Amino acid sequence: MTVLRKNLIDGEWLGEAGSRNINPSNTNDVVGEYASAGPEEAKQAIAAAKAAFPAWSRSGPLARHAVLKKTSDEIMARKDEIGRALAREEGKTLAEGIGETIRAAQIFDFFAGETLRLSGELVPSVRPGVGVEMTREGVGVVGIITPWNFPIAIPAWKIAPALAYGNTIVFKPAELVPESAWTIVDILHRAGLPKGVLNLVMGKGSVVGQAMLDSPDVNAISFTGSVGTGKRVAAASVEHMRKFQLEMGGKNPLVVLDDADLGTAVDCAINGAYFSTGQRCTASSRLIVTEGIHDRFVDAVKERLDKLVIGDALDAKTQIGPVVDQTQLKQDEDYIAIGRQEGAELAFGGERLERESPGFYLRPALFLGATNAMRISREEIFGPVANVIRVKDYDEALAVANDTPFGLTSGICTTSLKHATHFKRNSEAGMVMVNLPTAGVDFHVPFGGRKGSSYGPREQGRYAMEFYTTVKTAYTFAG
Ligand code: NAD
Repeated sequence: MTVLRKNLIDGEWLGEAGSRNINPSNTNDVVGEYASAGPEEAKQAIAAAKAAFPAWSRSGPLARHAVLKKTSDEIMARKDEIGRALAREEGKTLAEGIGETIRAAQIFDFFAGETLRLSGELVPSVRPGVGVEMTREGVGVVGIITPWNFPIAIPAWKIAPALAYGNTIVFKPAELVPESAWTIVDILHRAGLPKGVLNLVMGKGSVVGQAMLDSPDVNAISFTGSVGTGKRVAAASVEHMRKFQLEMGGKNPLVVLDDADLGTAVDCAINGAYFSTGQRCTASSRLIVTEGIHDRFVDAVKERLDKLVIGDALDAKTQIGPVVDQTQLKQDEDYIAIGRQEGAELAFGGERLERESPGFYLRPALFLGATNAMRISREEIFGPVANVIRVKDYDEALAVANDTPFGLTSGICTTSLKHATHFKRNSEAGMVMVNLPTAGVDFHVPFGGRKGSSYGPREQGRYAMEFYTTVKTAYTFAG
């Protein structure tokens, strides 16, 4: 029998069955049934978070540390089970699902530590006898809206700092991945959060998400998702004069220079472009390759692509799982057709695959002869599709890499210190990788991009404090 997962509002599990969650590796497999909140539940959740804020914001570091540490410990202890459920609902491989779960545990552990490291400043005023204190306080009710592609890590890297710095939360996860969201909320709830501090409202973005955007009682919104939804979040937030933070798409370049180590470059391309089925905002969808290494690089990438095991996410041998759902699969196939119409050569893959169970299987696709002006080079596809853009030299590679509306990550494979250093300084991206895939980042340092990829303060690491706190300057006259 399928279990019904409910929403958490003001400390109570509420709601009737609303939606079913389907395994993309096997569409006959129903992962679970989930309550679907409407505008009324969203309002109740916001009201509960508002009422819980004064006490939680004054709760002090030990209470917050205890909840975050306990949560980290439970996630780590259950990493295999939670990682498996994640792979089952999202379609990334078991190893990727477990890896992401471990990362969530590490994030909670990091922010548990941060609760004990809060500090302020005390400076003399320019006026004799006056002292000035600068302290940080929680912002209030934070709305957290997340996408489907990192179902546990992204909620973790928003919820953990929000709680650590004394905020209360209304959390709306993506419709496709409610199981991971529910699990993390269940663990936090049982770890001892007071009622109303964390509220879960699963449901449609256009309904529940929109109700959060429209509420004057949501003091800040942290959003990760597409550019289109991000713009809505921005417009509504400006209307309400609230703080907001957007992490959106990417069209990340990986530059491969003639002097690159071929093995490293191929590893970076395969991992960056295709792992997690290419469904990462940090994926390397543009492979910008100089002439001298172009043919050797392309042959080696095709050889590796041919050996990749594409199949059921829960099979331990699988290296590339299915696409997340029918809509995303159609988008990938549409872009593959667009690339061919634009004149790029589909040199590998791009066709649907049959496996034992019915699922959304797509063979990873590689385009050659792409130009940077083609739609497949400018628009985010969000699937296992990469283009090779051939360039003359480093200068052209850098210019092409930067010629994009996005600016999340970028990478370069080279053995030249000069080019590596120049690229790090001149790449217009928030995160730059040298001889590493464009995807795959540490959990204790800032994450975020530039241009159309991101807006607002960075996420993760100590930099997260910037968004989840507000500064107070207090003056005291002591005579
Ligand atoms: P999406 O924009 O469709 O949905 C994101 C979230 O917004 C979901 O929870 C959705 O329900 C909600 N939403 C939809 N309409 C809304 C509305 N009117 N009001 C409020 N909320 C609403 O994105 P997606 O398809 O879930 O995720 C894929 C996108 O996320 C890609 O563009 C990817 O690049 C991006 N992404 C970015 C990062 C990053 O850190 N830069 C990380 C992961 C994913």
